[in-house]
Amino acid sequence: MTERYDLTKKCNKCGNIVTISLTKIQAAFDTYDTNKFCEENCDNCGVNHWKEISITTPKFDIELLDIWGNTLDFQFWEQDEDLMFSSFGEIDIILSAVNKDEYLPEKMGILINTLFVILYDAKQNNFVDLEHKVFKYLQENHHMINKYQNHVDDYLKEKVLPIINY
Ligand SMILES: [Zn+2]
Repeated sequence: MTERYDLTKKCNKCGNIVTISLTKIQAAFDTYDTNKFCEENCDNCGVNHWKEISITTPKFDIELLDIWGNTLDFQFWEQDEDLMFSSFGEIDIILSAVNKDEYLPEKMGILINTLFVILYDAKQNNFVDLEHKVFKYLQENHHMINKYQNHVDDYLKEKVLPIINY
């Protein structure tokens, strides 16, 4: 089954809805020019006043993460990607990506930050299984922290390094 990723706009005057199909990459990383998409007048009423611009976002998966990891300009979210990653529960995908260690240093740094955030939050909130999983990885892989420490936020280092006996 091929999934569809739609970019949709709605005319503010007549309610006409226009949809085009995006590629998975365009939809995930918002690389399609939505301003251009909204340049044309409504083909129903002739007015140019589009609202409710929306994109069907693909489900996060390893394919998208691999593309993100090797493309400096691509972002899933405009800011605080480590916080966003940490909030949506795909720890196994993130751990396996970190473990492969094949991404750009900047991206590896974001993922290490993400693990730090997850560990800290899990500890605060008593998510024991999650805490143990991330703790075990970081505890056993201090070399990864050494390698990417320049990309890890200082405030996270202060909070998390003592926890993992670094
Ligand atoms: Zn219209």
